[in-house]
Amino acid sequence: MGSTAQPLRIAIVGGGIGGLALAAGLCKKPHLDVHVYEGVSGYRDVGAGLALHLNAMKAMSLIGPEVRQAYLDKATDMADAAADSGEEEMATEVILAHGPHAGELVAELGRAKGRKSVSRADLLAGLLALIPPGHVSLGKKLARIVERPAGTAAEPDEEPVVLEFHDGSQAAADCVLGADGIHSVVRSHLLGAGHAATAPKNHDRWQVYRTLVTTDEALRHINEKWTRRVPILLGPRGHVNCIPVSKGTRVSAGVAVRGGATPKTSADGPGGGAGGQSNNKTEALDPALYADYSADAQRIVGMVARNTNASWSVGDHDHAPHYWRGRVAMLGDAAHAALPFAGNGAAQALEDAAVLDHLFGSVGGRTQIAAALAAYDAVRRPRSQQVVDLARRFGRVYAYADDEIGDDPARMRAFFAEAAAFTNNADLERQNREAMDLYEHAVGEASRSGKA
Ligand code: FAD
Repeated sequence: MGSTAQPLRIAIVGGGIGGLALAAGLCKKPHLDVHVYEGVSGYRDVGAGLALHLNAMKAMSLIGPEVRQAYLDKATDMADAAADSGEEEMATEVILAHGPHAGELVAELGRAKGRKSVSRADLLAGLLALIPPGHVSLGKKLARIVERPAGTAAEPDEEPVVLEFHDGSQAAADCVLGADGIHSVVRSHLLGAGHAATAPKNHDRWQVYRTLVTTDEALRHINEKWTRRVPILLGPRGHVNCIPVSKGTRVSAGVAVRGGATPKTSADGPGGGAGGQSNNKTEALDPALYADYSADAQRIVGMVARNTNASWSVGDHDHAPHYWRGRVAMLGDAAHAALPFAGNGAAQALEDAAVLDHLFGSVGGRTQIAAALAAYDAVRRPRSQQVVDLARRFGRVYAYADDEIGDDPARMRAFFAEAAAFTNNADLERQNREAMDLYEHAVGEASRSGKA
């Protein structure tokens, strides 16, 4: 690491999963002064349940064992009581719920020993507790970024990046990392408000209906095993899923309907929900339309239809041409929001955080920030954008709408096996090493040419 007289001021915009995990790592580095600016004044529990895959676990471990432990402390075993020891392998079970092959298991996603699920609100509380007091400001909603404030130092490298908030206040930083979710202001700053990839899209007009109930309530409606395990039940009019959250005391259940969102309700909301996706009033979910689904699926649909107040229209991002410019970068959903169907959006945010955390361990001065952000972009953009594409395809496969796969269980199995290997089995230590090699090469070149 190079030396710097003053700690480098790192502003993280957005205190979601990516922002807080990154802050938890960076705040351990004495040469950095980290501050998180979160738009909401208090975290709401909107009932979103996350089942983190193996790559998310590996990314948390790389940031620090305490980050992984914060997750484990808040999470629920996705397993029978017998698996509480963490010895039983658990997975999201993808099962056909419609057509001639109904009942067939076509994938076990994210198989891992002692795998767990967690509510987004619980995970955020656990991460927040790792950040020293005074380093997170709530109610600071970013309005715009000014990179060359008038009247500041002549050398661009010496000028602060200024954040302007909706409450009229400002903050200065040496580097801004935007983890402000799918409707990111930082993305708009980096790409331009009018860029085709800036605003989220909902190409397949997905509508996700969700409900959050106590486990006791769920037991009155659905198969008991789906209050402890994570199924995704497939069919052409929507896929159905359940996730136990809040240490097994509540169940988050949902139905995702392809073509169900009106263009007006497609990813057009204010963000700040599960993954910053929109929360809109929609058409009622009609259980009668699922009468030809399996009995298990029908029961879950019936439970969700009783209260669809937590309905979502989801969206994702078309590919950004770059994730950084100057001393500003974006990560997580701000950089590459994906449809939730591959269950890897939070994992990708955590992978971003792991790489940035690793690189910033070596950044010793403002002149080295650009090299770190370029290295981050080079290793993270291709992989995270492949996950965006993969999640779109997951959605079509779940709806029997993929031309190559249809409702053929064998082809589904092959697809899911390949996809799961890509997301879960990634070598994240190698990813960190590749980023560091690129960074060290760029810093070395700059040093030899007298630029740093
Ligand atoms: P967010 O978690 O969205 O955080 C962004 C933060 O920025 C928010 O706190 C927001 O308030 C704040 N913010 C927004 N604008 C501003 C501003 N202008 N100024 C300051 N702060 C601002 N992923 C998985 O890995 N596994 C799963 O099982 C899974 N299931 C999902 C289920 C659903 C229904 C959905 C919708 C998503 C799911 N995801 C899952 C995806 C996951 O939730 C997201 O990818 C993840 O939350 C992204 O984290 P993030 O920190 O980038 O963004």
